[in-house]
Amino acid sequence: MSQVVSKVRAAKLELYRKQGKIHAKAVDGRFNRLRWLMVWLTQGIFYGLCWLTWDVSGQLRQAVLFDIAHEKLYLFGLVLWPQDALLLALVLLIAATGLFLVTALAGRLFCGFACPQTVYTSIFTWIENRIEGDHLARLQLDQGPWTAQKVLTKGSKHLIWLLIASWTAITFVGYFTPIRELLPNIPGWNVGPWEGFWLIFYAAFTYVQAGLAREAVCQHMCPYSRFQGVMFDPATRSVSYDQARGEPRRASGDAKAGDCIDCGICVQVCPTGIDIRDGLQYECINCGLCIDACDQVMTRIGSPTELIRFAPMTATNTAWHRRPRVLSYALLLLVLVALGVWTVDQRSLLRVDILRDRNVLSRETADGRIENAYQLQVMNLTETAQHYGVRLDGDSPVEIVGKPTITVEAGSIAPLQVTLSADASALPRGSHAVAFHVFSGEMRTRESSTFRMP
Ligand code: SF4
Ligand code: SF4
Repeated sequence: MSQVVSKVRAAKLELYRKQGKIHAKAVDGRFNRLRWLMVWLTQGIFYGLCWLTWDVSGQLRQAVLFDIAHEKLYLFGLVLWPQDALLLALVLLIAATGLFLVTALAGRLFCGFACPQTVYTSIFTWIENRIEGDHLARLQLDQGPWTAQKVLTKGSKHLIWLLIASWTAITFVGYFTPIRELLPNIPGWNVGPWEGFWLIFYAAFTYVQAGLAREAVCQHMCPYSRFQGVMFDPATRSVSYDQARGEPRRASGDAKAGDCIDCGICVQVCPTGIDIRDGLQYECINCGLCIDACDQVMTRIGSPTELIRFAPMTATNTAWHRRPRVLSYALLLLVLVALGVWTVDQRSLLRVDILRDRNVLSRETADGRIENAYQLQVMNLTETAQHYGVRLDGDSPVEIVGKPTITVEAGSIAPLQVTLSADASALPRGSHAVAFHVFSGEMRTRESSTFRMP
């Protein structure tokens, strides 16, 4: 009899496993609540940040904007230029190292809680759940014939999915084109070719990935799931089933049965349709929903919870000093963050490039002095116009001719012609080092060049 029950249960489980479309059962619990907290947090930032403005001398501009046309990245009060590529590279390195550290500590935690694929799939399946009903109703609807009601139900779901996907695309493009200018242009499709392309592509991408492909992306397309194993160590925590405590399953009728009653709910709630009792599988995104489900079952039958739990993979000793990989990632992260802070602190809002006219290195004036001409490319990286002056560094017989000054508009580059002069008898023949100081109030920079004496 018990064997028959087991067979029926096994057949029922096949409905939920990774063949065909997965209709995961909804479950409540601490991990589910944490997942939704992450959805609200990440999407609150994504959908909201592009609407924030930043006051620059009484003028409002979008606080976060990747202005590709003008080669600038606005991050609140910070304006980054192509010359700040090192800083951007550091930010990417910090993000990657942080991800490696989290993976070494807790496996695919990013996949289960913060990856956009997981987050949007959660939102899209929540909508599906509201419109089509719970997992059983959805299964029934899918297997049933096409009726007017089914067309209406499915059509409403896809319409709402498309609306969300479209708004996601508008938000995405709104980080590259000011969203307050973009939005009024969309109804009449008065957008540029690149904006148009990305609006359509990103909306279609979101709709297909989160609505149709879902867990298939994690199972078959995501490269991260394939190589993240190299970051694990034996103490990396991962969602695991306690075999020793759970087996043999109670449904087997064994007199010394373990705590698993083989209810299959952990499989029913799994968004990737796997059975965690089969051991660690690359499809597992560490979302913890099977823990929530099993904890509820254990509480109901009066057994201790955590038959499925986040546990070290194989190690029994998880002391920090035995985890060189984790320590290396943490140290690297610390160094990169310190380097990033130092780079921002040392960053100058005034840059100068000196160009020499190679055809006329020097010339002699009527009064016997030697002159060299320079063009200073003065780059104002602030958000207001600046007036700059120039002087020479140190005690040198070389002098500046006149008092060159220039006003450079906010975020612009302007050329400033400067002539240096020295008495022909003051210096020997050859090249002599000179240093220009360009300044505006407290802001200053020093650039070296040479004075050529023929
Ligand atoms: S939810 Fe728990 S008790 Fe039920 S099958 Fe899964 S591991 Fe066993
Ligand atoms: S096995 Fe558990 S943790 Fe892994 S994906 Fe399925 S529900 Fe999430």
